[in-house]
Amino acid sequence: MKITGIRLGKLSIPLKKPFKTALRTTSTVPANIIEIRTDEGVCGYGEAPPTAAITGDTDGAIRDAVGTRIAPALIGRDVSELADSLDIVERSLIGNTSGKAAADIALHDLWGKLYGLPLYKLLGGTKREFATDYTISLNSPEEMAGDAREAVSEGYEALKIKVGNDFRTDMERMRTIRDAVGGAILLRADANQGWTPKEAIRAIKFMEEEGLDVELVEQPVASHDIEGLKKVTDAVDTIILADEAVYSPRDAMKILSLRAADMINIKLMKSGGIGGALKICAMAEACGVECMIGAMMESKVSVTAAAHLSMARRVITKYDLDPPILCASDPVKGGVTYKGALLTLSDAPGLGIESIEGVEWEESR
Ligand code: MG
Repeated sequence: MKITGIRLGKLSIPLKKPFKTALRTTSTVPANIIEIRTDEGVCGYGEAPPTAAITGDTDGAIRDAVGTRIAPALIGRDVSELADSLDIVERSLIGNTSGKAAADIALHDLWGKLYGLPLYKLLGGTKREFATDYTISLNSPEEMAGDAREAVSEGYEALKIKVGNDFRTDMERMRTIRDAVGGAILLRADANQGWTPKEAIRAIKFMEEEGLDVELVEQPVASHDIEGLKKVTDAVDTIILADEAVYSPRDAMKILSLRAADMINIKLMKSGGIGGALKICAMAEACGVECMIGAMMESKVSVTAAAHLSMARRVITKYDLDPPILCASDPVKGGVTYKGALLTLSDAPGLGIESIEGVEWEESR
């Protein structure tokens, strides 16, 4: 099965309500969809959202990277040569991990279709069901408590609370939410780089002393401040999860060797796809460090890829794959299915995606 062409398209899915973090606010999930075609008529799908505030990758940069660097290098290659193709994608340009992830995901989808197996099975997994947490956007403490109560009433047992714009109000947010949901619900806090190391230590110690029972705190400090991250990790008892501090396997190696965080949040858009994510998993496992699987605001195409990966690696123990739940509609048929907090992978080959409605296909190579 040979790759004969690659095209890109745009998909925009409205959110039920605006998604707010310490870094940005968005009301749609904008996706660049990639389709890799083959001489046997089988297509592979991937996705890259333009999360410029986090990855630096804009729509234009993703389209240019895929169209002018990645696609020409892949056309003519055999789908079975996965490792070599992933290497070619990785070396096609510096950066643009989102564009690379889109190609990597589509190549894995095709690889599964070539062998007639769902991706999680090809990667060695057996389980295909798990529960995701649910993200509460950054708003006033009262509004967030209302959102949290609603999520709990819908059956979510783990909530990821966005904080990080003002550490005093953040403490009030966590207190108000804990009071609203009771003691049985898992609370995770994601500061999205919003605190200084000293603010983070004060905030986390306060939460510990107040008995707010926060399971983990994600990326408390600036992404580049590895020393600050380590300082926070060393100073508190709460689990510190590195998110924006870890993109590549090399970033992970640094965090792991310094023990600058207790856990790593893997996102395909940071690691450049499943290939890079598997390397991070292997290193983390060797160091006895568990990982979370997360996503940007992505459609079900790339979230399905993340779900397959998470079922294939036991080092991934926490799941933050709720973006499709936050969407007002689901244009992707097939792939992972959601029933409340529960995600189930299909046993169709590859990612199991049947069709994607509403894509505006832009260019073909
Ligand atoms: Mg995060």
